[in-house]
Amino acid sequence: MTDFTATKAMFNLPVGMVYLDGNSLGPLPKAAPARVADMLTKEWGEMLITSWNLSGWMVQPMVLGDRIAGLIGAEPGHVALGDTLSIKVYQALAAALDLRPDRRVILSDSGNFPTDLYMAQGLIRTLDKGHELRVVAPEDIKDAITDDVAVVMLTEADYRTGRLHDMADLTTKAHNVGALTIWDLAHTAGAIPVDVAGCNADFAVGCTYKYLNGGPGAPAFIYVSPRHSETINPVLSGWQGHESPFAFDLAYDPAVGVERMRVGTPSVIQMAALETALDVWDMADMTDVRARSIKLTDLFITEIEAACPMLTLASPRDGTKRGSQVSFQFKHGYAAMQAIIAEGVIGDFRAPDLLRFGFAPLYIDETDVHTAVKRITRVMTEKLWDRPDYKIRKTVT
Ligand SMILES: *Cc1c(COP(=O)(O)O)cnc(C)c1O
Repeated sequence: MTDFTATKAMFNLPVGMVYLDGNSLGPLPKAAPARVADMLTKEWGEMLITSWNLSGWMVQPMVLGDRIAGLIGAEPGHVALGDTLSIKVYQALAAALDLRPDRRVILSDSGNFPTDLYMAQGLIRTLDKGHELRVVAPEDIKDAITDDVAVVMLTEADYRTGRLHDMADLTTKAHNVGALTIWDLAHTAGAIPVDVAGCNADFAVGCTYKYLNGGPGAPAFIYVSPRHSETINPVLSGWQGHESPFAFDLAYDPAVGVERMRVGTPSVIQMAALETALDVWDMADMTDVRARSIKLTDLFITEIEAACPMLTLASPRDGTKRGSQVSFQFKHGYAAMQAIIAEGVIGDFRAPDLLRFGFAPLYIDETDVHTAVKRITRVMTEKLWDRPDYKIRKTVT
């Protein structure tokens, strides 16, 4: 059994605040400042360039990739870290399209995070081969998987509502019509049990700064199924994805396996912070995390619906059908979230009218849920949101 009191104690959580935004940026692991300071002062400061070998900087993207593999059901050695999620989406999509040269359709849904769609649009322009990005409603995806589709590219949990796609079922359907799948795990890695190998996913990508708590700017990850990792052509053929980077050959020759999806020099300072976050994950069992997540989100929904009739649930009511977040619709959602934040409950707002709350069981407990509900109820019933300064939109919502 996971000791959630122990995992909670591993994070720096400001006193008096209930942090329900770990789905967007996880909190600071208490061990991170010392680990990063050590990396800076010893590994960089004193050991300088020798640290690429002696401190293992160059192999970090694969070493930490293996630790993430354990959290998403990937075969060891088939996850590489680096760059940002947008870049990883681009790489996975280019590789997948290259594996289906006779097809032109990329299928996605309107619940996908816009950058995934933007990257597809940019890739289509660059390739200039007449590909089409077909976007349908999330509930229509299964029927839209037809035999002209090259790639089904989906985010497993809808970033707005937390609605989950059935990865196993949709991947099977895609394979039955000869299509490939790319799963974006941004809102599921570290939130629910994921089994990319068991589902036969072709590619998976994700970020490490949301539920995985790697910190702002932490590297993204990419999984390529062993079925494809030896044959794909990297669109971003950088030297760190070369078979032997330090041979300095003039011609590109891809590395063995998923390592070919590495591009350039790793973000070593970020990797040091991420290491400490993954140490917390070593203490957690994903089945326990999921059970607790459903318990906490069910409790939150029940209590908010009882106390705040002006809020409308936008997430699936069935806990097994949603990720680890809950969203409510409210006409004055932006102002309401500003007021809720002022009361010490951190969630976020997603256009046009969603109040979004993430529940990360590693550090959120039932007491936090009760406290959050009490504060949100005060904001809603006393209309604390109805202030002009709460209606002015900031850059990051
Ligand atoms: C958070 C998120 C991203 C962010 O991409 P970055 O390149 O890391 O900024 C991309 N896709 C999805 C589905 C996300 O939820």
